[in-house]
Amino acid sequence: MPSLKRYRKTKIIATLGPASSTREIIGNLFKSGVDVFRLNFSHGTHEDHRKRISIIREIEKERNRPIGVFADMQGPKLRLGTFKNGEISIKKGMRIILDSNPEPGDERRVYLPHPEILEALQEGSDILLDDGNVHLRVIKKGSDFIETEVIAGKKLMNRKGVNLPNVILKVSSLTDKDRIDLEAAIDMGADWIALSFVQRPEDVEEARALIGIRAKIIVKIEKPSALESLDEIIDISDAVMVARGDLGVEIPAESVPSVQKRIVRVCRKAGKPVIIATQMLESMTSSPRPTRAEASDVATAIYDGTDAVMLSAETAAGEYPIEAVEIMDKIAADVEKDHIYRKIMDAEHPDPGETSPEAITSAAYWVAMTLSAAAIVNYTTSGSTTLRTARERPSVPILCLTENMIVARRLQLSYGVHSVHTKDVESFSDMVKKACRISLEHNIAQKGQRLVITAGVPFGTPGSTNILRVAWVE
Ligand code: PGA
Ligand code: MN
Repeated sequence: MPSLKRYRKTKIIATLGPASSTREIIGNLFKSGVDVFRLNFSHGTHEDHRKRISIIREIEKERNRPIGVFADMQGPKLRLGTFKNGEISIKKGMRIILDSNPEPGDERRVYLPHPEILEALQEGSDILLDDGNVHLRVIKKGSDFIETEVIAGKKLMNRKGVNLPNVILKVSSLTDKDRIDLEAAIDMGADWIALSFVQRPEDVEEARALIGIRAKIIVKIEKPSALESLDEIIDISDAVMVARGDLGVEIPAESVPSVQKRIVRVCRKAGKPVIIATQMLESMTSSPRPTRAEASDVATAIYDGTDAVMLSAETAAGEYPIEAVEIMDKIAADVEKDHIYRKIMDAEHPDPGETSPEAITSAAYWVAMTLSAAAIVNYTTSGSTTLRTARERPSVPILCLTENMIVARRLQLSYGVHSVHTKDVESFSDMVKKACRISLEHNIAQKGQRLVITAGVPFGTPGSTNILRVAWVE
């Protein structure tokens, strides 16, 4: 079976759902370019997710390529109660009470099953519902209810989502459901756990205490409060998602582009993979072609220097999951060929810290560029060398050779990384021979080209990267 080397550096993530659960479709998604799959624990049963992950692992074995999987926790997504008739019509100026009575609601009142929100809201607070389509403002606060005025909106339906911009809730970003889900996800073999609605660094610490080293943590940035301590949150996380769906309701839509750019920049500097998510090719849920604006949005994320772009409903529930991946793949390949893109990636390189691994990875990048090498090859045990190499955003592939399959899977999320699970080497000549053999096998380099190889001596010691070797492929 030929090795599946991608001809682009930016990674593609696809969410699996009812439209993409068969062996055939998941296999085709992978063939079309998916590097990492997302299991969305807001929907579906554990059984559904378990089946999907076992299909992914079968494909991984068959194609002999590591595939990343992340389990996305629902988090404290707030929802409205229900209405007697399923929905109500509303109009500007109308008043409606949100209270703690679980009875189905009507035009006058409706249940809000979150006492902590009733408590946290103040007169003048804004409440957004249904992805921002409805806007209510608090005009009176009672002991167990709030009275609101409709600022905008036409109707409210059962169990619509509730967003409270600028209110810090005294809730953990992990609900009881999340705690159960994350154990199940780890048991199924998910490589990453994604945390929704993270508000403060303590939310990440709390999750880390539960997860330990069993999985890595992706924080989803979708609350204004998270932006206030962004650097600290990123610092203690393993990867970041710009979760534009909720973020774009919680902060004004016009602020999303600059926030996206800021987060990508901070993540690159920190050497943490970053994902741009939501509504990237939304119209493709029911159309075989994207809008021009969507194609441009995907391209912009790539010009920003993101590690990965993500598909949600497009692949989970849409009519054209394969086409969505194919188009994303083409947009990425096209942008990456643009010399302006290269200029943007090369404009800045993070300063290496004063450690041997940082100095070596930075040097490897410059040596590879100077010699027009075919690839940078990292021997890595923990994966940290490859994360450091990825932040250079090199124009050549990063061939990551690791003895640890879990590391190989996780690194598939990172920019430009082609990871290969292989035994460690024991000598310098082994190191060169193996790098040459694998880069030929995987079509990363041709005979007569050069490789820039990094490794740590003694071989196989984590965090010990201390050598740089230039080798001719023969
Ligand atoms: P969700 O997260 O799809 O779980 O809501 C992504 C987002 O909010 O953009
Ligand atoms: Mn969200």
